[in-house]
Amino acid sequence: MSTETIEFQAEARQLLRLMIHSIYSNKDVFLRELISNASDALDKVRLAAYQDKELGAETDDLHIELVPDPEARTLTVRDNGIGMTRDEVVELIGTIAKSGTAELLAQLRDAGDGEAAQLIGQFGVGFYSSFMVADRVELTTRRAGTDAGVRWESDGEGSYTIEPADDAPQGTSVTLHLKASDAEDQMHDYADRNVLRRIVKTYSDFITWPVRLAGEPPAEGEEMTEPETLNSMKALWARPQKDVSDEEYAEFYRHVSHDWQEPLETIRLAAEGTFEYQALLFLPQVAPMDLHMRDARRGVQLYVRRVFIMDDCEALVPEYLRFVKGVVDAADLSLNVSREILQQDRQISAIRRRLVKKVLATIGTLRDEKPEAYATFWDQFGRALKEGLLSDADNRETILGVSSFASTHGDEPTGLAAYRERMREGQEAIYYMTGDSRTAIEASPHMEAFRDKGYEVLLLTDPVDEVWVDGVEGFEGTPFRSIAKGQVDLQTDEEKEKAGEQATEFAALCEWMTGVLDDDVKEVRLSSRLTTSPAVLVGDEFDMTPTLEKMYRAMGQEPPKVKRILELNPSHPLVTGLREAQAAGRDESETAELLHGMALLAEGGELGDPARFVGLLAGRLERTL
Ligand code: ADP
Ligand code: MG
Repeated sequence: MSTETIEFQAEARQLLRLMIHSIYSNKDVFLRELISNASDALDKVRLAAYQDKELGAETDDLHIELVPDPEARTLTVRDNGIGMTRDEVVELIGTIAKSGTAELLAQLRDAGDGEAAQLIGQFGVGFYSSFMVADRVELTTRRAGTDAGVRWESDGEGSYTIEPADDAPQGTSVTLHLKASDAEDQMHDYADRNVLRRIVKTYSDFITWPVRLAGEPPAEGEEMTEPETLNSMKALWARPQKDVSDEEYAEFYRHVSHDWQEPLETIRLAAEGTFEYQALLFLPQVAPMDLHMRDARRGVQLYVRRVFIMDDCEALVPEYLRFVKGVVDAADLSLNVSREILQQDRQISAIRRRLVKKVLATIGTLRDEKPEAYATFWDQFGRALKEGLLSDADNRETILGVSSFASTHGDEPTGLAAYRERMREGQEAIYYMTGDSRTAIEASPHMEAFRDKGYEVLLLTDPVDEVWVDGVEGFEGTPFRSIAKGQVDLQTDEEKEKAGEQATEFAALCEWMTGVLDDDVKEVRLSSRLTTSPAVLVGDEFDMTPTLEKMYRAMGQEPPKVKRILELNPSHPLVTGLREAQAAGRDESETAELLHGMALLAEGGELGDPARFVGLLAGRLERTL
């Protein structure tokens, strides 16, 4: 096969240009990215060779080598890891356009510089960061256990070439033809041995494979110098906590998470004895693009005694904590464990339980001690965390305890403990209402009496809220109660007495209206939740809310039709007037229909027959002119 030239996709080109020309102020990090990839490749070949003795992979001296050539102005980063096949090179290196690129580009266009860096950081364009320092990049690779090598080359502009390379050794070698502009800058001359020493020490010290600086070519009459190992190779999670600096944690976080930011919080835990393990976990600052997409990956890697076993280890973290990044290193597992075995493993479930508790406790500590960090966390990951209210019954109270919710108390979200402290005397429930937005809920007629009497209401607007509120009974013994469902009891004894009298007075009206609106509502009754609106629709305690119905429709499912209850405000002139007219024997069924339609509109609902409603209303208005 001869050389093929392949065009980058348009999106990929745009992304590259943005990254190279406008975003990174710190170019040194390209080396961190290449070393990180090489380290992953070494992890993979060790595991592959262990699991498949027939593979024929070489694993004797696994390492990473940096070969600077000041004369030729090149830097080569070489590993003898797993390597890539031709198809893999095209797929992994030739395509920067991972899922979400288009969306990312759209967001980038609107973003300022600082924000743009953040966005790209979430996306992670690891290998391509080489083009920040190189005009041209060559990559030669051979997949372990195969004998067909591949050479790839690109200037990072429009296209790349790919051709066979028969003499390629196992693993991958990336040669950067360094930009002339960096040669002048002593601190950033990437063909300079001291610069390389410094960068590796800063960004890649914890890499568990040796990162060697190649020996220097001999000067006249001298011998080639020995290669020199630049990193300490100490796994960070195995070092005493006090000996690891924040910077080191941050670099390690970047290595495991492929994120470019610092972590929001670092979590360490360890156990000794029969189940020995160490874990180093991180809460990120920014949610990845795919956090709420189906099949989002989990961020925890499994190691066994410093040996990498797998990425995305779902046995170690529940789905609702998929945003947690890091590693767990377990001492007593077989290197051969499969995902299936892990799911059954008692030791792994014990680790998982402890890890969940620790993460939740950390979130609680953040809230108590670092309110700003907690606010960031909640903003990014609160929605995911609340999924745990349904899926993790054992930790439900704890999750509730570290969650926060928008509330009528103020602009800042509140915790439930704080809500309980503010509860009024005699208040027996935590009141909430679900809906599409804070404004919509606050404007809803259901709020009237609660606002009037000073009861705090939680305003729940995440789609997941619609679901958990039905599955969760209460918090520390106080039940949750929707203000849009069932009867509300906010009345004083005096008011109750009055309500009793009104009930008798309006009994005939309610009965008549129940008949007229039979197709749409299951009952018409008097309300104690209204002060200014004439009528409101409410659900029975276990009925679906209108928002949940909408969600079903959005997913293409028609929810079962539930008739709701129409409540009337006995102090509203429209309602008292209607009562008198009906008692006088006039046919007011159209007014009843209008009243029902208005209640639907007031809560942001959709009319069953809008044309008919408009016709009735127009007729009515006409008569008033
Ligand atoms: P990421 O590391 O976040 O996946 P990169 O752009 O750094 O993104 O790399 C893309 C992919 O290319 C890697 O996931 C890996 O599969 C492959 N790759 C990159 N460098 C190497 C290497 N040295 N050896 C083997 N595979 C590599
Ligand atoms: Mg990478």
